[in-house]
Amino acid sequence: MSLRIYNTLTKGKEEFRPREANKASIYVCGVTPYNYCHVGNARPYVVWDVFRRYLEYKGYEVHHVQNFTDVDDKILARAAEEDKRPAEVAGKFIEEYFADLDGLGVKRAHVYPKVTDHIPDIIRMVQGLLEKGYAYQVNGDIFYDVSQFKDYGKLSGRSLEELRAGARVEVDERKNNPMDFALWKKAKPGEISWNSPWGQGRPGWHIECSVMALKYLGENIDFHGGGVDLVFPHHENEIAQAEAFTGQTFVRYWLHNGFVNFSGEKMAKSLGNVVSIREARQQYSGMAVRLYLLSTHYRSPIDFDLEKLAAAQKGWERLQNAQEALEQVLGKTTEELPAPPQEELSERGQKLIKGAQEAQARFEEAMDDDFNTALAVGVLFDLTREINSFLRKPVASQEEKAVLVRARKIFQTISDVLGLVSATEVGDEEKLVDSLIQIIIEIRQKARQDKDYARADEIRDRLAQLGIVLEDAPQGVRYRRK
Ligand SMILES: [Zn+2]
Repeated sequence: MSLRIYNTLTKGKEEFRPREANKASIYVCGVTPYNYCHVGNARPYVVWDVFRRYLEYKGYEVHHVQNFTDVDDKILARAAEEDKRPAEVAGKFIEEYFADLDGLGVKRAHVYPKVTDHIPDIIRMVQGLLEKGYAYQVNGDIFYDVSQFKDYGKLSGRSLEELRAGARVEVDERKNNPMDFALWKKAKPGEISWNSPWGQGRPGWHIECSVMALKYLGENIDFHGGGVDLVFPHHENEIAQAEAFTGQTFVRYWLHNGFVNFSGEKMAKSLGNVVSIREARQQYSGMAVRLYLLSTHYRSPIDFDLEKLAAAQKGWERLQNAQEALEQVLGKTTEELPAPPQEELSERGQKLIKGAQEAQARFEEAMDDDFNTALAVGVLFDLTREINSFLRKPVASQEEKAVLVRARKIFQTISDVLGLVSATEVGDEEKLVDSLIQIIIEIRQKARQDKDYARADEIRDRLAQLGIVLEDAPQGVRYRRK
């Protein structure tokens, strides 16, 4: 079946037709790294991680780009407060972002461009918009002239007149039109700034995404995503910039996820009103948080509810238990056994294989219908029930075993696309890292014994660059992560 998705631009479900056969390009607006991520911030990244995995499951080669807005008023304010450089604040919270999202099993995007690495590209696009008559300069500030872009408002579905009437924009005498927005901001005294043809300054917010999406993915990209709050003005402005600059369609499918609302009153004191990912993970596993976010359709809002998060924790444990029970019966081997003829199968064997095959078909149907992860999660739990019920009696024959292997394969495939990976796998990965570091420590000890201190120091320094600190302890050398 073909994938159909709701496109904010056309306000309807459309069949996905990629720009290039078997390829899918994705741009997702990333975070402004000035604070820890909360559960709401994580939602777009978890849902896009599943969209990407599902596209890969369907055989698409995916290219996924997500930016970091590493210069912004909020970063500058925090840097001033803490007497740090803006780059230090951004650098720290980019690391924290990865630590949090890794914990939720979110695969890394292929490219994470940062604003501060793309100033010349940004200046080039602003210059181009000035030359084409879509922008104007006022005393070192550059504004986009929305009246020049005839399609302005097409994403949010409002005309310029409606937008103007509905907007309570502060009067800014420098602008021709209240909806005009800054492409380049003249530097304030003491503020971080870059040289430009218009004097010292820094980019406005919207321009970075048009520049980086075009740079890494080209024109007419397949998917652009972000929270529903970004439709206007951010994505509207991205379209205005990119399409005025290239004369081509910027994005084929615009997808927007709903909010996580933290207005519920039943919040536990310890968690406060807005729950950061690390706070949630003090009580619940990362996979439970992930399961919780995926249990609602991505376009619907979620009213954050601790009880539902606790239920997700139990749900996740049920999935894990099934996984472990399967491993006890089948071992780790994933080798498929030849499918037995239907008539040689016991009744319960027939029931299991039918249930598993139906689960896979229903899973695809759910995901093909605008990435309905809520339904897909339900299908995974149905299959878990089938497997558990089968496992209540011992596996009686080679034929039954073949069927169980097949059911496990489908169970794992669906879990994989939803990114609900078994904790034992994560554990194995950690054990591997631990063993590798122990080997490196031994090599360094050997270098010291041989009085090759330069080599020993080099090993220590390079580990430190990776955030791994070596410490001398009575029992020998230990390591810890910074
Ligand atoms: Zn953006």
